[in-house]
Amino acid sequence: MLDGVGVSWPGGSPENTGLILALIVGAYFVVLWLSAVVWTARDIHQRTTEPMAQIVFTLIVLIFNFPGLVVYRVLRPPLTLQEAEEHRLESTALTRELQQNPPCPRCGYEILADFLACPRCAMPLRMSCSGCDRVLDPSWKICPWCVAPTSAEAPVSANGGERPAPIQAPPEQATAPRSTDG
Ligand SMILES: [Zn+2]
Ligand SMILES: [Zn+2]
Repeated sequence: MLDGVGVSWPGGSPENTGLILALIVGAYFVVLWLSAVVWTARDIHQRTTEPMAQIVFTLIVLIFNFPGLVVYRVLRPPLTLQEAEEHRLESTALTRELQQNPPCPRCGYEILADFLACPRCAMPLRMSCSGCDRVLDPSWKICPWCVAPTSAEAPVSANGGERPAPIQAPPEQATAPRSTDG
């Protein structure tokens, strides 16, 4: 057993003090280690449902601890399952909205997304952007591609509308069908 040397060491002796300090430091690292493992286990469960990936990543952090945590942060799936689901829903909704093309309101002909007018009855359906010539929905206020204002009050036709038109164009839309020989 250790003999007291008369100096009042905290804990009784230098050996005991060292032991206590080692225990404290050891407990500190064990807590950090377990926290990293628990955090990884929770995180990987939010990112994948594959049990193999969950076990492997948790084991990597359990064995290699903080270097393993760095490896996990690099290799883990970038999105949580919830984020991935939200992205998928947003993407699906946007795609559906863009692909939902009502037929021509006049003749019922099938209208594709980039048609400016009905090919059968020549009814104007959409307008093209004055800045980039892309097809715009009439309800949009600006072009989503080049941010040019669409001036929704006066639909810009594709006749080279370079100058801005502050005053709305007079309503002289000729709705009468053009007589074409044929
Ligand atoms: Zn039509
Ligand atoms: Zn544009």
